[in-house]
Amino acid sequence: MNATVRTGGCLCGAVRYSVRGEPVHVGRCHCADCRKESGSAFTVYAQWPVDACEITGEVSSYAGRGFCGRCGSRLLDPVDPDDPLIEIRIGSLDQAPFDLTPQDEVWVKRREKWIAPVEGAAQHDENR
Ligand SMILES: [Zn+2]
Ligand SMILES: [Zn+2]
Repeated sequence: MNATVRTGGCLCGAVRYSVRGEPVHVGRCHCADCRKESGSAFTVYAQWPVDACEITGEVSSYAGRGFCGRCGSRLLDPVDPDDPLIEIRIGSLDQAPFDLTPQDEVWVKRREKWIAPVEGAAQHDENR
């Protein structure tokens, strides 16, 4: 059986990646750091096993947050050797919509009033 392969990358194309199989977790976060790093009101991310992910190109990082040093697109969190999972900002996937639905929503207390909760997602006032 062939696993689903999804591809993604930054806006300028200098960094590309692929992820194989379904993510082990999908979440949406409204925290203050996610707002700053994304320039948006929330982030949507998913985690895959490290060995399911392949990356080409150079990922720059700041405080554990990986991005393209050329165009600035936020992409993924560079992993340490013992990390089992890699976290990816799934707005960087090529497929739009990406058809992955958050199971958890965190830092709900910072969610804008005009943003509806994700139907069926566990709601957490702060971290889960
Ligand atoms: Zn780029
Ligand atoms: Zn956050």
